[in-house]
Amino acid sequence: MDKKIINGYVAEYENGVFRTSKKDIYVIDGKIAFSADSDEFEVIDAKDRLIMPGLINMHTHAYMTMFRNYADDVSFDEWLFKRIMPVEDVIEKEDAYWTNMLGMIEMIESGTTCFSDMHMFEGQSCKAAKEAGMRAFIGRGLVGSDLNGDGAGRLGEALREKEAYESDTIKFILSPHAIYTCSEKMLTQIAELAEKEGMLKQTHLSESVKEVEDCYKQFCISPVELLDRAGFLEGSILAHCVQMSEKDIELITSRNATVVTNPASNAKLGNGIAPVRAFCESGTNICIGTDGCASNNTLNMFREMSLLSLMHKGVERDCTFLSANDILTMATVNAAKALGMNGKLGIISEGAYADLIFLDLNACSLFPNNDLITSLCYSANGSEVASVMVNGNMLMKDRELLTIDRERVFSEVRRIATKYLK
Ligand SMILES: [Zn+2]
Repeated sequence: MDKKIINGYVAEYENGVFRTSKKDIYVIDGKIAFSADSDEFEVIDAKDRLIMPGLINMHTHAYMTMFRNYADDVSFDEWLFKRIMPVEDVIEKEDAYWTNMLGMIEMIESGTTCFSDMHMFEGQSCKAAKEAGMRAFIGRGLVGSDLNGDGAGRLGEALREKEAYESDTIKFILSPHAIYTCSEKMLTQIAELAEKEGMLKQTHLSESVKEVEDCYKQFCISPVELLDRAGFLEGSILAHCVQMSEKDIELITSRNATVVTNPASNAKLGNGIAPVRAFCESGTNICIGTDGCASNNTLNMFREMSLLSLMHKGVERDCTFLSANDILTMATVNAAKALGMNGKLGIISEGAYADLIFLDLNACSLFPNNDLITSLCYSANGSEVASVMVNGNMLMKDRELLTIDRERVFSEVRRIATKYLK
């Protein structure tokens, strides 16, 4: 049924600025409207609520919730090759469904309505996102040297899952893992496939010093230049981008690629801090991702937004850099742009998808509501999110999950963690 949301403070975005005002909004066929002909509505009273676009987590691996605090405070190599990968090799498909569901709970409860994911059991990710009612862009992590050879199995499976699960809210995204796990030839093949099928493409890029050094040793060019030579860079979504030369940054911007910065993951794994100021000055489209729980260790975008702003203000010794407005723009509008959903997602405007979150203005962390916009970046921690709507459907109302059996998910994930982690 269509909805009328009354008495709320609505965060709208106009001319690059978020502002709040008290107004009613309608949700008609899953989309936002500011007026309506009919008067048959389910009325939602949003008194003492701030209504804003749902946050978009542009890089994660939702199933990795099972690894939360499993391998903290160890070196990158120890973390990846000795702790995470050996377990990933033996995880059963059905178990990944439950760990994905825990990811859906965490995202909904902390105000994320849409995410971009990379996973080996992407069918389980789709199933979890669909049942939870989330909007998702999901890709199978592709590795290999030839899309028609050793990479064909994974791609074939991914395309079959695409047929089975793609819908209005679940989209597929071609996701070669990285330049060090895919050959240049395969990256070219994937770029050609993306062009032919009109699909988005994402990859991990220049995350660590070692990745960049190895690339120079092998190819005498940077990972960014390699991606460009392969024809992959144009319009791509690039997670991490920590180790960058000036030339890399220029190239990324000129190819209209999007950078997804993952400040917590990069800092925690000791990989460094992305050159966000240089990207901003260059005019790159920048978004925010949490990465997976193995490296972050949370999928909470409010924490990520706060960390991103504070970290760079500190590093740059500039308290005006990365304002709350800039950060909110990255987590909503810029993400929609990267996903080809400009004006349809990440914004409260006529005809946009009704992906909304309702924050409790009486929460201690937001009170006394002196500046609703800056409070979202500097004060909110996600616990203020009272209700969540995606595509016009309520997924959480007054902190009660409506699409997921929370207790069942917790009990299954506890069983799974005991089974795999020692
Ligand atoms: Zn990742």
